[in-house]
Amino acid sequence: MMELFSLPPSDKRKQYELRALALRDFAGVASAEPLDPFALAQFAKLLVVDFDQIKGLSEESREHLLGAGTEEWSGGACSQPLPNGWRIVILNPAHGTHRNRATLMEEISHVFLGHKPNRLAVVDEGRNPIVREGAQRAKVAARDYNKSDEEAAYAIGAAALVPYAALRQLVFGGRTAEQIARRFHVSRQLVEYRIKVTHLWAIHKGASTSRPQHV
Ligand SMILES: [Zn+2]
Repeated sequence: MMELFSLPPSDKRKQYELRALALRDFAGVASAEPLDPFALAQFAKLLVVDFDQIKGLSEESREHLLGAGTEEWSGGACSQPLPNGWRIVILNPAHGTHRNRATLMEEISHVFLGHKPNRLAVVDEGRNPIVREGAQRAKVAARDYNKSDEEAAYAIGAAALVPYAALRQLVFGGRTAEQIARRFHVSRQLVEYRIKVTHLWAIHKGASTSRPQHV
């Protein structure tokens, strides 16, 4: 039976939260514990490959992807599965583990939600610099989903990382976004996003301005 206040107020968020909780349940993590997407990835048949292991990238591309172009990509799953059915996921190492966890969680959500990519082998020069690599083009083109699937996968992934019931308790307990982020091994930005979409922002703001910070 659902506890009171264990789901966020809006209908859309309730649906997202239920799917996120199912993912957490599947992963076997307790309600206030951090979820490790890297452990969950195998069940979605996603193989996380280190950026440095990508063959055929020129030094120039490598520098662009990790330097000037680093905000243009966070990572994604490759469009072509491996012969064993697994898909390769590449994460942007310049974004750090916390952001990588959210990106990977989104990819896992796409798989568990059964989303079908609407375009394959998209060559989008601006958004997806990896696909410009000549011979590797077809193999490394990232998957793309329609807008509502993208929204759902991101939102459910974020909810799986920072579940509402625990978040609510921590916000009401006066914890800062930074403290909550450390607890769930995610970025402060992700925690703030979760606080906003679950309508806890007013409580959070009140707590952070009226109380001294404590650990
Ligand atoms: Zn996505």
